[in-house]
Amino acid sequence: MPASMGTAIHNSVEDLCNLDLVGMRDAESGWLDIASKEALDRHWEIERQIFQDTPRHPRWKPELITKANEGLRGALGILLVRARKPQRNLSDVTVRCWKEVQSMVLANEGYLESICGRVMGRLDLWIAEYKDGEVAEWIVADLKTGRPPKEDLDLKVNRQLRLYRDLLKQNNPDHPPVHAEGWYSANQTVHRADGPPILDEALEAWEKMAPTELPLDATPSDVSCAFCEWKAWCPSWWVARKEGELSPGSMFRDEVVRLVRFDQESGAALFERSPPVGDDGELAPSDHRFGAILKDKALQQMIENQSSADDHHLFLGSARLDGKVMHLGDWSEILPWSPMLMSSSQKFKKIE
Ligand code: SF4
Repeated sequence: MPASMGTAIHNSVEDLCNLDLVGMRDAESGWLDIASKEALDRHWEIERQIFQDTPRHPRWKPELITKANEGLRGALGILLVRARKPQRNLSDVTVRCWKEVQSMVLANEGYLESICGRVMGRLDLWIAEYKDGEVAEWIVADLKTGRPPKEDLDLKVNRQLRLYRDLLKQNNPDHPPVHAEGWYSANQTVHRADGPPILDEALEAWEKMAPTELPLDATPSDVSCAFCEWKAWCPSWWVARKEGELSPGSMFRDEVVRLVRFDQESGAALFERSPPVGDDGELAPSDHRFGAILKDKALQQMIENQSSADDHHLFLGSARLDGKVMHLGDWSEILPWSPMLMSSSQKFKKIE
């Protein structure tokens, strides 16, 4: 949902930067408010459709359009400040003022590629700052709709922005001074990403991503595994949980279980935890049983998996612990537990 909201905001800003103002009077105001609402409504609906068509999606939250609207206004506010227009209500922005904003945007959603063709990036905004009618500086801006940093930019975001900066410089040898910024729409703050060139490091990382015959060693950790989408296919986190290398989580937990009982009508289920035996995905029975209440998407997934649940174990993702009972709903997942134990090339050889 945050990704969908971010995309809707990004694409609305892009539409407004490209808005055709031909035929409108320079002094006309009141139109930007309407145009931004129309753009957001349009992209909100597109994102909702994509979201609904995506497998393994939680509940769409229509009420978040209010937050998206605030984010869009925040992003437009930063653009106006960057164009040295005093901060004002969108309804007061004239056509002349917005034309000036548009004239400093050299590109939005621009595609950047290194000369060697190995590394690419998509910048949100490429801005020209003028002094005495001449271009004084280029700004590579990335619009961030997530939580703003308290102080410095997150290291990953800093690296991302410097990569865009360096790709832009490499593609334009006669460039003016260039710097990169993260624009945080939530509180309308701008954070500059300074630091040494990063392109060589990016290319080194690219080399390390070459496919290998053997899968990379798993490196389970609380940070890596917390939101990993691969748990239902990864035996390593479950072993790490048993070994105590991963914390079980407090309110939300992941489990690998056997279904003992399930009542489709009420959504009540009884599960038995299946601890791992060795590293190869094998599971053992246990006497650890717990009840769960399933509803919405989780109930639907349980109904779909019920026929195979007698022969297969299940992965429960993001089950909410309340006392001794787990609750699973739109925020959770119930998938067949099917760890992948070798790379596809090894599997292929084995079949041969
Ligand atoms: S669940 Fe597995 S694949 Fe995902 S981060 Fe943890 S160890 Fe890596």
